[in-house]
Amino acid sequence: MKPKRILLKITGESLGDKNGEGVDPKSVMNMAKKIKILHDAGIETAIVPGGGNIFRWKFVRDSGMTRVPADQMGMMATIINGLALQDALERLGKYTRLMTTIEMPQIAEFYIVRRAKRHLEKGRIVIFSGGTGTPFFTTDSASALKASEIEADLLAKASTINGIYDKDPRKFSDAKFLKNVSYHEALEKKLAVMDLTAFTICEENKIPIMIFDAENEENFAHLAKGEDVGSIVS
Ligand code: UDP
Repeated sequence: MKPKRILLKITGESLGDKNGEGVDPKSVMNMAKKIKILHDAGIETAIVPGGGNIFRWKFVRDSGMTRVPADQMGMMATIINGLALQDALERLGKYTRLMTTIEMPQIAEFYIVRRAKRHLEKGRIVIFSGGTGTPFFTTDSASALKASEIEADLLAKASTINGIYDKDPRKFSDAKFLKNVSYHEALEKKLAVMDLTAFTICEENKIPIMIFDAENEENFAHLAKGEDVGSIVS
């Protein structure tokens, strides 16, 4: 079914260079064009960008660096990505709002759920940056929370793999594709496609999660028509 309101989680790496690092304007524009396909189809579109192209706590885990400031650096990275995406989407003629969970009035609106929903109703693409605003989380959890708060019909996770497998298909040639997975199964098998916290939040709020290959532009066209792509956790 075609979603009325979608929350699209974009990993930071998809905005980086060929190694998934830094902010590559070409990759950002590429992603913005794909987001435009969903919005052009009349779907209210909200985005949660990750920050892994710039910084993650995991990058410095073994260095002795304290986790809280490292996570805060990661959250700042998602705001940098949000700004880049906003710029690209506006250059494509889209109206957008960048919202942050960390107050930064000079560059983005502070996140208020009622305001976010109003922007979506008015046809603006809303980018939620800053993750949850709290260390010890990831943007997967942030996207599950935001999807629940804005009452999205679907959380779509833009991935580099075409769905869920019982083991990593890049490492195991006999990995089995799983088209439909229950939240329970995702939690029990600790499926690595998303944080377990994100699965729990979506289960509680009955938000289906779609994991799909976002490198293939056609998938966005299918998604825009409400056609099945990737795997679904529900
Ligand atoms: N982060 C955090 N709290 C949040 C979201 C993110 O502390 O609510 C930090 C955390 O260090 C995380 C980094 O920001 O690793 C970047 O986010 P994430 O790893 O989710 O980005 P992605 O993998 O999607 O690019």
